[in-house]
Amino acid sequence: MAADSTPWTYRQPTEIVFGAGARERLPEITGRLGSSPVFVTDGGLVELPLIAELPALLGEDTPVFADVAPNPTVGMVDALAELIRERGADVVVAAGGGSSLDCAKAACSVALQGGPARRYHSGGEALDERHLPLVAMPTTAGTGSEVTPNSVLGDPEKGVKAPVVHDNFFPTTALIDPELTHSMPRGVTASTGFDALSHAVEGYWSRNHQPICDTLALRAVELVFDHLEDVLEDGADATAREGMSLAALLGGMAFQAPQNAAVHACSFPFSASYHLPHGAACAMTLDHFIRFNAPAMGERGVALARAAGCEDMERLADEVARMKAEAGLPTTLSEIGVADDDIPAIVEASFHPLMDNNPREVTPDALTEMYRRLL
Ligand code: NAD
Repeated sequence: MAADSTPWTYRQPTEIVFGAGARERLPEITGRLGSSPVFVTDGGLVELPLIAELPALLGEDTPVFADVAPNPTVGMVDALAELIRERGADVVVAAGGGSSLDCAKAACSVALQGGPARRYHSGGEALDERHLPLVAMPTTAGTGSEVTPNSVLGDPEKGVKAPVVHDNFFPTTALIDPELTHSMPRGVTASTGFDALSHAVEGYWSRNHQPICDTLALRAVELVFDHLEDVLEDGADATAREGMSLAALLGGMAFQAPQNAAVHACSFPFSASYHLPHGAACAMTLDHFIRFNAPAMGERGVALARAAGCEDMERLADEVARMKAEAGLPTTLSEIGVADDDIPAIVEASFHPLMDNNPREVTPDALTEMYRRLL
C-alpha cells in the first residue's frame, strides 16, 4: 500500500545557543566568525544597560549602528551596508527585535553585492551567495527571525512592506538570552507573544506543513498558553520570559519551512496602512481564522486545540479572543481607523501569495464578510 504523505524537507542551518546569561558567550562566538565586527541595534534599545554593554564585549572600537527603527526600510539596509563596507567589517552582530535582525540580514548580503537594497526587494533581482556571517540576538520573543531565512522590509517609495527570503538570511548563530527580553514594555510583550502564537498556528495549518514543524508548532502553542499571561502580569517573571523566548524560537522553526498562511497575508495591510505592530496585526484575525479553518482541520485541529489545553478549535478561538482582549490588543477594525468603505481595498491588499497556504480556501466574499464582522 502506498504511503499517503508527500515528501518533505527540513533544514535549519543556524547554530542555536539558548539560555539565561548566554550573552556572555558573544565574544567567543563572534571571534570564531570574524575579527572585525559591526554591532547593530535600534535607536531605543541602544540606551538600555544590557544592550549598551554588548559592543564593548566585542572590542573597544566596535562600530555601532543604532539607526534601525520599527518596520525597517531598504534605506536603513543601505546605510548599514555602507558602514559595514567603510569599516571593512567581516562579521555582524544584531541585538534587537525582528526589525534590527531583519535589517542586519539584508545588509550582510547588500554590503558585499552592492546596493541599493531596493534592487532586491518585492520582485527585484535575486541575491547571489555572497554574504557576511551574522550573530542574531533577539530582544523580543515573537518573530523567530533569529532562525528564519526572511527579512521583512519596507520600501516607502513604493508603499510596500514585504519579506525578502534567501538562504543567506539564516543567521549563522542565534544567541538567545531571555534576560534581554525582560525590559520589553507590556504592549510589545503582548504583540510579539501573539506573533509567536501566529507562527506556530500558521506553520501547523499551512498546506505545506510537515511532521518536524508540526511537532515544533504544538510545543510552541503549549508554551505560549503556559507563559504569555504570566509574563503580561509580571514582566520580571524569569521563567515565563524564558518560556516565551523558547516559544518564539520554536514558532520560528515551525513556520520557516511551511511558511505562514491567511493570518499573515491579512496582517500586511493592517501594518502598512494602519500602522499596527506586526504581532497585533496577526492577532486581529487569528481567532477568526481559527474558527474559519476549523472545518478543514479535522483531527489535526483537535490536536492543535489540545496543545493549548482546549477541547476543540471553537474553544481555542474563544481562548485566543479572550487573551487578545485581556492583553489590550485591538479586537475591532474600527479601533484602528478602518471604515466600512475601506474594506474592499483591504480585502484586495490581503491577497498576498501566503493566502494560498491556508488550509481552507479564502474567497474575497468570505474575507469581506469576516472584515465586516470585525468592524
Ligand atoms: P521591533 O524590532 O520592531 O521592536 C518594537 C519596539 O520594541 C521597538 O521600539 C524596540 O526598541 C522595542 N524593544 C524591542 N526589544 C525590547 C526590549 N527588550 N526592551 C525594551 N524595548 C524593546 O519588534 P518585533 O516585533 O520583534 O519585530 C517586528 C518586525 O519583525 C516587523 O517588521 C515584522 O514584519 C518582522 N518579522 C520578521 C520575521 C522574520 O522571520 N524575519 C517574522 C515575523 C516578523
